[in-house]
Amino acid sequence: MKITQRTFDAVIVGAGGAGLRSAIQLSESGLKTAVITKVFPTRSHTVAAQGGVAASLGNSEEDHWHWHMYDTVKGSDWLGDQDAIEFMCRKANEVVIELEHYGMPFDRTDAGKIYQRPFGGHMSNFGEKPVRRACAAADRTGHAMLHALYQRNVRANTQFFVEWMALDLIRGAEGEVLGVVAMEMETGEISIFQAKATIFATGGSGRMFYSSTNAFINTGDGLGMTARAGLPIQDMEFFQFHPTGVYGAGVLITEGVRGEGGILRNSAGERFMERYAPNAKDLASRDVVSRAMATEIKEGRGCGPNRDHVLLDLSHLDPKVIMQRLPGIREISIQFAGVDPIREPIPVVPTAHYQMGGIPTHYSGRVVAPRDGDPDAIVPGFYAAGECACASVHGANRLGTNSLLDLLVFGKSAGDSVIEDVASHPKSLPDLPANAADYSLSRLARLDGQVDGESVHEVQLALRRTMQDHCGVFRFPDLLKEGVSEIMAVAERVGRSGIKDKSKVFNTARIEALELDNLIEAAKATMIGAATRQESRGAQARADFPERDDINWLKHTLWYREDNRIDSRPVHLKPLTVDTIELKKRTY
Ligand SMILES: Cc1cc2nc3c(=O)[nH]c(=O)nc-3n(C[C@H](O)[C@H](O)[C@H](O)COP(=O)(O)OP(=O)(O)OC[C@H]3O[C@@H](n4cnc5c(N)ncnc54)[C@H](O)[C@@H]3O)c2cc1C
Repeated sequence: MKITQRTFDAVIVGAGGAGLRSAIQLSESGLKTAVITKVFPTRSHTVAAQGGVAASLGNSEEDHWHWHMYDTVKGSDWLGDQDAIEFMCRKANEVVIELEHYGMPFDRTDAGKIYQRPFGGHMSNFGEKPVRRACAAADRTGHAMLHALYQRNVRANTQFFVEWMALDLIRGAEGEVLGVVAMEMETGEISIFQAKATIFATGGSGRMFYSSTNAFINTGDGLGMTARAGLPIQDMEFFQFHPTGVYGAGVLITEGVRGEGGILRNSAGERFMERYAPNAKDLASRDVVSRAMATEIKEGRGCGPNRDHVLLDLSHLDPKVIMQRLPGIREISIQFAGVDPIREPIPVVPTAHYQMGGIPTHYSGRVVAPRDGDPDAIVPGFYAAGECACASVHGANRLGTNSLLDLLVFGKSAGDSVIEDVASHPKSLPDLPANAADYSLSRLARLDGQVDGESVHEVQLALRRTMQDHCGVFRFPDLLKEGVSEIMAVAERVGRSGIKDKSKVFNTARIEALELDNLIEAAKATMIGAATRQESRGAQARADFPERDDINWLKHTLWYREDNRIDSRPVHLKPLTVDTIELKKRTY
């Protein structure tokens, strides 16, 4: 097979918010940059973000980055790295105003400033009461943001490779990253993208669960490529279940609904969050609300004939608020739940939503992996940003609206780091290893040669059911133990799965098979991490270890694909300039 070769200063894999924000930085600095993406940039999952992007602008009431930092550390259940969190919260206003200047159509206050709404876990004055911090464009914030970023890239002449799928990382003899091997979907062409810097911005892996708010393309490709290249993945056991997915359909109802005054009720009509979080109530952190809902359902206070969901009630709100601030939500409710929220409550259940873990990075966007006793050793040439990365600002639980912020802050800082590193890079690119594309070619050859392989669809379904049944909101020891052996059995089936159509041109079956290779790595990391971590912290709620255990488990989990090896890295408890936010019990 003929393999083409392309060379760039930087190659970015992924054209969601993180990839596009990095690309602006690089293209505007004059670096020759390629962005590879499975879908047209504005179809990336960022487009689906609804509620908002966090920044302590204080447009409606007093706010401060230090309060935002406190909330984020507390939200992370102290597993977040406090240097990275300070970095993000301090940068928030700058990157949001930059976005405004790129043309982002934010909603406005009467005074003409960016409109802000309350969101779960965001409080004023170090945890006192909910504060309006989420900057929003109605309930289509991600849509507006992704389009603004894309248009800015068009202006900067960024070169896009649309409907190309990156298959594997290329590493040199010293472990440095030299680029990626990728495939053009339209033709089946295989190409080596050689670059001084490779940025992964491939998004999440939410499709590993049966019930998920995530797009079909969120298959953890960056994680799969990283794991296959021998590098670790961090903290994957912390998977966020969003409290309000539409019952049955999984489609997301933004937390912004509760920010605007929506209330969760059980079968008795009770506002049950008052019992679980007397202070923040329906605006407690997501893990807290999801567990409260699961408990209500488990204890028989769920709604409907099967008592298997709760209700999100907006009927007391002024219809004008719903029409103006939440028009998309009304549409989703009518389409997917058959109810008009102006009159009737929406049936909702916790639904898999966001991976807190990912490729471990420094807050500069540089990827790290322990080496020679240094837990924070940099992997030269390799950067990551957005949901696929773990900086780690979200720790064990992410606050709503902190992801869109993460994309902007770390997309930009990864771009800045690349500019800095490329400036000191030798002019000529290092030679590629002779066999740079062999690994990807062998994966393709297996698919081409596999006769009577099990259907990719069937195996993927088994993967998603295993994750859903064994690694959900609450985690039980027997289910986790079974889950580990079941997911390893699924992994073997992935290796034997096959496709009937072996053609090269727009063969989506082939793409799905390659995606499954990635999803299984993300799933193993999640299940094995969950089984290993013997404590409850943030999104990891173990029935057999109900308490947080800071003595033994205040550390990041690292999972390596080889032998399913588990290791750890210390949490950075020291911020950049302020005092450490000291550990305490997390209540809302
Ligand atoms: C329904 C929904 C609502 C949300 N609402 C909010 C919100 O209101 N506020 C908030 O802060 N967060 C929200 N989130 C979370 C947030 O939107 C995501 O975490 C974030 O958008 C991820 O952005 P990203 O740039 O990392 O990746 P994505 O936007 O997912 O983009 C990933 C990109 O990688 C590309 N890609 C992946 N694999 C490959 C490959 N192998 N080869 C080539 N390209 C590849 C894809 O084509 C895509 O361009 C929401 C998430 C969901 C699912």
